[in-house]
Amino acid sequence: MANVVKDLPTMKKFEFPVYEVVTPHTNHSFTIRSMTVDQESVIKESSVSPVKLDTIISQTIFDCIENKEPPFNTLEGFEKNLTYRDREALIFGLIVASYGETQKYSYKCPNCDKEFDVDINLGENADVKIYNGGEDLINKEVTIDLPVSKYKAVVKLPSLFESKALYNIKGVDKSVIDKMSEYNIVKKLIVPGYEIDTATGDKIEKEYVIDKLIEIYSTIRKLPAKDRKAIQNAVVDMYGKYKLTIEVPTVCPSCGHEFTTSLDVTQELFRNLQ
Ligand SMILES: [Zn+2]
Repeated sequence: MANVVKDLPTMKKFEFPVYEVVTPHTNHSFTIRSMTVDQESVIKESSVSPVKLDTIISQTIFDCIENKEPPFNTLEGFEKNLTYRDREALIFGLIVASYGETQKYSYKCPNCDKEFDVDINLGENADVKIYNGGEDLINKEVTIDLPVSKYKAVVKLPSLFESKALYNIKGVDKSVIDKMSEYNIVKKLIVPGYEIDTATGDKIEKEYVIDKLIEIYSTIRKLPAKDRKAIQNAVVDMYGKYKLTIEVPTVCPSCGHEFTTSLDVTQELFRNLQ
C-alpha cells in the first residue's frame, strides 16, 4: 500500500476587488480595494458620533488604498493633501470596490406612486469633474474683495486635516463649530483701518488681519449679507464644479414617467452597510 501524504489544508487565494479613483480637487489617482467585513463593522459601530465617524471613514479609505505613495503613505499625509470633495470620490470608489457597480434600488414613482425595483449601474451614472488647471488647489490662496465692507477675504480650500482640526477646538459648543465650519475656507480677513500718529495727529492707514477662525466667524456674522454672498459665489466659481455627482435617470415601468434622482455618496455607503 502506497503512503498517502496528507497535506495541511490550503485555502485557495482570492483577491479583493479594486476600483480606480481620480480626486476632483487635487487630481491624484488611487487604486482602492474592497473593505473587509471587519472594516464594515467598525464604520457601523462609529456612526453614533459624527466626529468619530468622520475619522473612521478617512482611516478606512486610507487603509484600503493600495498605492500609498508619498505624501499618501501616512494617514496625516492623506488628510493634509485631500479635500472633502476628494474624499467623496474616494468613498464612491470604496462603495464600488466593496459592493460592485450594479445595485438594486427601490423607487416610488412621483407621478403614479407605484413602487418598483430597478438595477442601476453606479459607474455609468457617476460623473467626477476633475480640476486640471495645473495649479495646486489645496495650497492656493485667493483674495476676494468684499463689496460693501471693503474688507478682503483670503480663501483656501481646507484639507481633511484642517476640517477635522476644527472639531478639536476646545471650549466651543458643537453647534457653534458646525456654523463656523461653513467659513473654514476663509483663512483670513483683512480689515482696513487706521492709526493716529501721536506726534502729528495724522491718520495713518493700516490693515488689520484676523486669522483665527472663531474671530473670522464672529466678524463675518456682523458683515452685510452681500459680503457673505460674495465669498460664497467666489468659492462656488473656483471650486464648486469639481466634484463627484451621481444622477440616476429612471423610467417608471407602470406609467412611463421619467425622473432623475441624485444620490449622496455617504448615504450610499450606509445603505450598503446594512
Ligand atoms: Zn409611474
